[in-house]
Amino acid sequence: MTDTSNTTDLTLVKAWNGAQKRLKAAHIDSPAIDARLLLEAATGFTRTDIITDPYKLITPEQNATLDDYLSRREKRVPVARILGRKGFWKLLLNLTPDVLVPRPETECLVDMILKTTTPDQAFTVADLGVGSGAILLSILSERPAAKGLGTDVSEEALAVARDNAANLGIGSRAAFLRTSWASGLDDESFDYVASNPPYIQSHVIPTLEPEVKDHDPMLALDGGESGLDAYVDLIPDLYRILKKGGGAWVEIGYDQADAVEGLMKKAGFFNVVTYKDLSDQPRIVVG
Ligand code: GLN
Repeated sequence: MTDTSNTTDLTLVKAWNGAQKRLKAAHIDSPAIDARLLLEAATGFTRTDIITDPYKLITPEQNATLDDYLSRREKRVPVARILGRKGFWKLLLNLTPDVLVPRPETECLVDMILKTTTPDQAFTVADLGVGSGAILLSILSERPAAKGLGTDVSEEALAVARDNAANLGIGSRAAFLRTSWASGLDDESFDYVASNPPYIQSHVIPTLEPEVKDHDPMLALDGGESGLDAYVDLIPDLYRILKKGGGAWVEIGYDQADAVEGLMKKAGFFNVVTYKDLSDQPRIVVG
């Protein structure tokens, strides 16, 4: 006889269905995906395990962990905050409450920089306001001859980015500096620069989803009353640290293309163009 004392009568598929039901009842936007991610984390099984062996029984401990995760998700804590990690590009990044949860929209920016470079190209890239390291580390992980620098005013954010760089084995090619945007960096010292600064208008923040307004750091969201404060500070710096012939990529809010293009041109950038994201929203300004 097999020992069943440490199992429940809950199969993976039943647990998944039950979890989806709870999240649906709590009006969570993506109950199926969230339920699966939380079930995977609570049990240690992968998506493939859940599909190929759906009748596997879970243990009481796994069920208790899942219950705890679901209770938090019902209270609108994002999955990435519950688990302390988020998939971005091809990476899995550790997060703390000190950094923005990387968004899929920002993957467009990574994709654009990668398309501008070749696989074995040796270049330098700066990511201003590096947060978890999402942009910088995605680029460095795909371009083994490249080197990068991430800046942030938050020492806590830099610790997260450093930890992610080390975990990905690219710590030796990624440097981190506590400073505001590019303050203290040399003129004409980078081939490429990128930034996803805070760009939400202060008065809009209280209207955002609880997942965002209650869990992302204000430092990474709040762009002042106009939403443009960070760009005003940042864009002249971007221009100053770029080598001649280099390129800058900045993420923007859906209605900020004209204003940010204007700031880029005023700083000296030419060939300034705004690209849309996969939801057809203006998202990345390039100069
Ligand atoms: N894209 C984020 C959001 O919509 C905002 C991030 C930012 O301000 N850079 O919540």
